[in-house]
Amino acid sequence: MAQAKKTERPDGRKLNETREMEAKVGIIKRADGSAMFRMGKTIAYAAVYGPRELFPGFMQNPEKGILRCNYDMMSFSVTERKRPGPSRRGVEISLVTKNALGPAVNLDQFANTVVDIFIIITQADAGTRCAGITAASMALADAGIPMKDLVSAVSVGKVNGRIALDLVKEEEDLDGTTDIPCAIMSRNNEITLLQLDGDISEAELIEAVELAKEGCHKIYEIQKEALKEKYKEIKNE
Ligand code: UDP
Repeated sequence: MAQAKKTERPDGRKLNETREMEAKVGIIKRADGSAMFRMGKTIAYAAVYGPRELFPGFMQNPEKGILRCNYDMMSFSVTERKRPGPSRRGVEISLVTKNALGPAVNLDQFANTVVDIFIIITQADAGTRCAGITAASMALADAGIPMKDLVSAVSVGKVNGRIALDLVKEEEDLDGTTDIPCAIMSRNNEITLLQLDGDISEAELIEAVELAKEGCHKIYEIQKEALKEKYKEIKNE
Protein backbone atom coordinates (compact mmCIF):
# COMPACT_ATOMS: atom_id res chain seq x y z
CA MET A 1 0.00 0.00 0.00
CA ALA A 2 2.83 2.38 0.98
CA GLN A 3 4.53 1.48 -2.31
CA ALA A 4 1.44 2.44 -4.36
CA LYS A 5 1.19 5.76 -2.52
CA LYS A 6 4.81 6.63 -3.40
CA THR A 7 4.19 6.37 -7.13
CA GLU A 8 1.07 8.56 -7.10
CA ARG A 9 1.39 12.06 -8.55
CA PRO A 10 1.07 14.96 -6.06
CA ASP A 11 -2.21 16.13 -7.58
CA GLY A 12 -3.56 12.62 -8.22
CA ARG A 13 -3.31 12.86 -12.03
CA LYS A 14 -2.67 9.88 -14.28
CA LEU A 15 0.81 9.74 -15.85
CA ASN A 16 -0.55 10.70 -19.29
CA GLU A 17 -2.84 13.46 -18.01
CA THR A 18 -2.26 17.22 -18.29
CA ARG A 19 -3.34 19.70 -15.66
CA GLU A 20 -6.61 21.55 -16.13
CA MET A 21 -6.16 24.10 -18.93
CA GLU A 22 -7.70 27.43 -19.85
CA ALA A 23 -7.00 29.72 -22.82
CA LYS A 24 -8.23 33.17 -23.79
CA VAL A 25 -7.36 35.33 -26.78
CA GLY A 26 -7.50 39.12 -27.29
CA ILE A 27 -7.19 40.06 -23.63
CA ILE A 28 -4.77 43.02 -23.96
CA LYS A 29 -6.60 45.67 -25.95
CA ARG A 30 -3.62 47.82 -26.94
CA ALA A 31 -1.54 44.92 -28.25
CA ASP A 32 -1.85 43.78 -31.86
CA GLY A 33 -2.40 40.26 -30.57
CA SER A 34 -2.62 38.75 -27.10
CA ALA A 35 -3.49 35.62 -25.17
CA MET A 36 -3.53 33.98 -21.77
CA PHE A 37 -2.82 30.31 -21.12
CA ARG A 38 -3.21 28.57 -17.80
CA MET A 39 -2.04 25.06 -16.99
CA GLY A 40 -3.00 24.24 -13.40
CA LYS A 41 -1.33 26.90 -11.26
CA THR A 42 1.00 28.12 -14.04
CA ILE A 43 -0.32 31.23 -15.82
CA ALA A 44 1.28 32.93 -18.85
CA TYR A 45 0.25 36.12 -20.66
CA ALA A 46 1.58 37.01 -24.10
CA ALA A 47 1.36 40.26 -26.08
CA VAL A 48 2.45 40.72 -29.69
CA TYR A 49 3.27 44.06 -31.35
CA GLY A 50 4.03 44.41 -35.05
CA PRO A 51 5.17 43.91 -37.68
CA ARG A 52 6.63 47.41 -37.23
CA GLU A 53 9.71 49.06 -38.69
CA LEU A 54 12.82 47.97 -36.82
CA PHE A 55 15.17 50.55 -35.33
CA PRO A 56 18.15 50.88 -35.28
CA GLY A 57 18.25 50.30 -39.03
CA PHE A 58 21.41 48.16 -39.02
CA MET A 59 19.41 45.44 -37.23
CA GLN A 60 16.91 45.22 -40.09
CA ASN A 61 16.81 42.25 -42.45
CA PRO A 62 16.01 43.54 -45.96
CA GLU A 63 14.70 40.09 -46.95
CA LYS A 64 12.18 39.41 -44.17
CA GLY A 65 10.89 40.51 -40.79
CA ILE A 66 12.49 39.27 -37.58
CA LEU A 67 10.98 37.89 -34.36
CA ARG A 68 12.02 39.22 -30.98
CA CYS A 69 10.98 37.67 -27.67
CA ASN A 70 11.11 38.72 -24.06
CA TYR A 71 10.13 36.30 -21.26
CA ASP A 72 9.94 37.30 -17.62
CA MET A 73 8.30 36.18 -14.38
CA MET A 74 6.63 38.59 -12.01
CA SER A 75 8.29 38.87 -8.60
CA PHE A 76 5.19 37.51 -6.88
CA SER A 77 4.73 34.58 -9.31
CA VAL A 78 6.68 32.21 -7.05
CA THR A 79 6.63 31.58 -3.30
CA GLU A 80 10.13 32.89 -2.78
CA ARG A 81 10.11 36.37 -4.35
CA LYS A 82 11.85 36.41 -7.73
CA ARG A 83 14.36 39.22 -8.14
CA PRO A 84 12.84 41.68 -10.65
CA GLY A 85 14.51 42.40 -13.97
CA PRO A 86 16.56 40.41 -16.46
CA SER A 87 18.26 37.15 -15.47
CA ARG A 88 20.31 34.48 -17.24
CA ARG A 89 17.31 32.15 -17.03
CA GLY A 90 15.07 34.83 -18.62
CA VAL A 91 17.55 35.35 -21.47
CA GLU A 92 17.74 31.59 -22.11
CA ILE A 93 13.96 31.11 -22.07
CA SER A 94 13.43 34.16 -24.33
CA LEU A 95 15.84 32.63 -26.84
CA VAL A 96 14.40 29.10 -26.82
CA THR A 97 10.88 30.56 -27.07
CA LYS A 98 11.85 32.63 -30.12
CA ASN A 99 13.42 29.54 -31.69
CA ALA A 100 10.37 27.40 -30.88
CA LEU A 101 8.00 29.89 -32.55
CA GLY A 102 10.26 30.84 -35.49
CA PRO A 103 9.51 27.78 -37.68
CA ALA A 104 5.76 28.52 -37.45
CA VAL A 105 5.80 32.14 -38.63
CA ASN A 106 6.38 33.48 -42.11
CA LEU A 107 7.69 37.04 -42.16
CA ASP A 108 8.82 36.99 -45.83
CA GLN A 109 6.39 39.78 -46.69
CA PHE A 110 7.61 42.06 -43.89
CA ALA A 111 11.18 43.07 -44.80
CA ASN A 112 12.91 45.46 -42.37
CA THR A 113 10.30 44.95 -39.65
CA VAL A 114 10.19 43.31 -36.23
CA VAL A 115 7.47 41.35 -34.46
CA ASP A 116 7.85 41.72 -30.71
CA ILE A 117 6.53 39.09 -28.30
CA PHE A 118 6.33 39.85 -24.59
CA ILE A 119 5.61 36.94 -22.24
CA ILE A 120 4.95 37.47 -18.58
CA ILE A 121 4.36 34.74 -16.01
CA THR A 122 2.00 35.83 -13.25
CA GLN A 123 1.94 32.48 -11.42
CA ALA A 124 4.51 29.70 -11.69
CA ASP A 125 4.26 26.02 -10.81
CA ALA A 126 6.73 24.60 -13.40
CA GLY A 127 6.25 24.48 -17.16
CA THR A 128 6.31 28.27 -17.56
CA ARG A 129 8.36 28.24 -20.80
CA CYS A 130 5.82 25.81 -22.28
CA ALA A 131 2.82 27.88 -21.14
CA GLY A 132 4.56 30.99 -22.52
CA ILE A 133 5.14 29.40 -25.95
CA THR A 134 1.53 28.18 -26.09
CA ALA A 135 0.19 31.64 -25.18
CA ALA A 136 2.58 33.45 -27.57
CA SER A 137 1.57 31.24 -30.46
CA MET A 138 -2.10 32.19 -29.94
CA ALA A 139 -1.12 35.86 -29.60
CA LEU A 140 0.77 35.71 -32.94
CA ALA A 141 -2.29 34.23 -34.63
CA ASP A 142 -4.47 36.89 -32.98
CA ALA A 143 -2.15 39.59 -34.38
CA GLY A 144 -2.74 38.16 -37.88
CA ILE A 145 0.87 37.08 -38.43
CA PRO A 146 1.04 34.53 -41.29
CA MET A 147 1.66 31.13 -39.70
CA LYS A 148 2.22 27.58 -40.89
CA ASP A 149 0.57 26.24 -37.73
CA LEU A 150 0.08 27.00 -34.05
CA VAL A 151 2.83 25.84 -31.70
CA SER A 152 1.77 23.92 -28.59
CA ALA A 153 4.14 23.12 -25.74
CA VAL A 154 4.21 20.87 -22.71
CA SER A 155 6.86 19.36 -20.52
CA VAL A 156 7.27 15.60 -20.09
CA GLY A 157 9.68 13.81 -17.87
CA LYS A 158 10.81 10.87 -15.83
CA VAL A 159 9.52 11.07 -12.29
CA ASN A 160 10.15 8.28 -9.78
CA GLY A 161 11.35 6.17 -12.71
CA ARG A 162 8.15 6.61 -14.75
CA ILE A 163 7.39 8.76 -17.80
CA ALA A 164 4.87 11.47 -16.92
CA LEU A 165 3.18 14.36 -18.71
CA ASP A 166 3.09 18.01 -17.59
CA LEU A 167 5.21 18.01 -14.42
CA VAL A 168 4.42 20.30 -11.49
CA LYS A 169 7.15 21.98 -9.42
CA GLU A 170 6.93 19.32 -6.69
CA GLU A 171 7.70 16.62 -9.28
CA GLU A 172 10.45 18.69 -10.97
CA ASP A 173 12.15 19.15 -7.61
CA LEU A 174 12.32 15.40 -6.75
CA ASP A 175 15.79 13.84 -6.81
CA GLY A 176 16.47 12.11 -10.13
CA THR A 177 13.65 13.77 -12.07
CA THR A 178 14.31 14.36 -15.78
CA ASP A 179 12.50 17.36 -17.25
CA ILE A 180 11.91 17.58 -21.01
CA PRO A 181 10.08 20.69 -22.28
CA CYS A 182 8.75 20.08 -25.82
CA ALA A 183 7.02 22.28 -28.40
CA ILE A 184 5.29 20.80 -31.40
CA MET A 185 3.38 21.93 -34.48
CA SER A 186 0.52 19.46 -34.44
CA ARG A 187 -0.36 19.31 -38.15
CA ASN A 188 2.94 17.68 -39.14
CA ASN A 189 4.27 16.78 -35.65
CA GLU A 190 7.34 18.98 -36.24
CA ILE A 191 9.25 19.45 -32.99
CA THR A 192 10.42 23.05 -32.49
CA LEU A 193 11.70 22.77 -28.92
CA LEU A 194 13.24 19.86 -27.07
CA GLN A 195 15.31 20.50 -23.98
CA LEU A 196 16.46 17.88 -21.53
CA ASP A 197 17.59 18.27 -17.97
CA GLY A 198 18.57 14.95 -16.34
CA ASP A 199 19.26 11.35 -17.41
CA ILE A 200 17.10 9.19 -19.67
CA SER A 201 17.54 6.16 -21.95
CA GLU A 202 16.87 6.37 -25.69
CA ALA A 203 13.75 4.16 -25.42
CA GLU A 204 12.39 6.29 -22.56
CA LEU A 205 13.06 9.49 -24.51
CA ILE A 206 11.08 8.15 -27.47
CA GLU A 207 8.22 7.23 -25.10
CA ALA A 208 8.38 10.69 -23.50
CA VAL A 209 8.30 12.53 -26.84
CA GLU A 210 5.29 10.44 -27.95
CA LEU A 211 3.53 11.43 -24.74
CA ALA A 212 4.44 15.09 -25.33
CA LYS A 213 2.88 14.85 -28.81
CA GLU A 214 -0.36 13.54 -27.30
CA GLY A 215 -0.37 16.38 -24.77
CA CYS A 216 0.37 18.98 -27.46
CA HIS A 217 -2.47 17.72 -29.65
CA LYS A 218 -4.84 18.28 -26.73
CA ILE A 219 -3.43 21.78 -26.14
CA TYR A 220 -3.76 22.51 -29.90
CA GLU A 221 -7.53 21.89 -29.72
CA ILE A 222 -7.82 24.30 -26.77
CA GLN A 223 -5.78 26.96 -28.63
CA LYS A 224 -7.99 26.73 -31.74
CA GLU A 225 -11.13 26.86 -29.61
CA ALA A 226 -9.89 30.03 -27.82
CA LEU A 227 -9.15 31.74 -31.16
CA LYS A 228 -12.63 30.86 -32.48
CA GLU A 229 -14.19 32.05 -29.23
CA LYS A 230 -12.80 35.58 -29.76
CA TYR A 231 -14.61 35.87 -33.07
CA LYS A 232 -17.83 34.50 -31.59
CA GLU A 233 -17.65 37.31 -29.00
CA ILE A 234 -17.08 39.95 -31.73
CA LYS A 235 -20.09 38.64 -33.69
CA ASN A 236 -22.29 38.94 -30.60
CA GLU A 237 -21.20 42.50 -29.69
N1 UDP B 1 11.13 28.98 -10.18
C1 UDP B 1 11.23 29.70 -9.00
N2 UDP B 1 12.04 30.82 -8.98
C2 UDP B 1 12.76 31.23 -10.05
C3 UDP B 1 12.66 30.48 -11.24
C4 UDP B 1 11.84 29.38 -11.26
O1 UDP B 1 10.59 29.35 -8.02
O2 UDP B 1 13.48 32.24 -9.98
C5 UDP B 1 10.23 27.82 -10.24
C6 UDP B 1 8.95 28.10 -11.02
O3 UDP B 1 7.86 27.44 -10.41
C7 UDP B 1 9.26 27.48 -12.36
C8 UDP B 1 10.02 26.25 -11.90
O4 UDP B 1 10.87 26.73 -10.87
O5 UDP B 1 8.07 27.17 -13.09
C9 UDP B 1 10.83 25.55 -12.94
O6 UDP B 1 11.69 26.46 -13.57
P1 UDP B 1 12.48 26.09 -14.87
O7 UDP B 1 13.66 27.00 -14.96
O8 UDP B 1 12.70 24.62 -14.96
O9 UDP B 1 11.50 26.53 -16.08
P2 UDP B 1 9.97 26.16 -16.39
O10 UDP B 1 9.72 24.72 -15.98
O11 UDP B 1 9.13 27.11 -15.61
O12 UDP B 1 9.86 26.35 -17.86
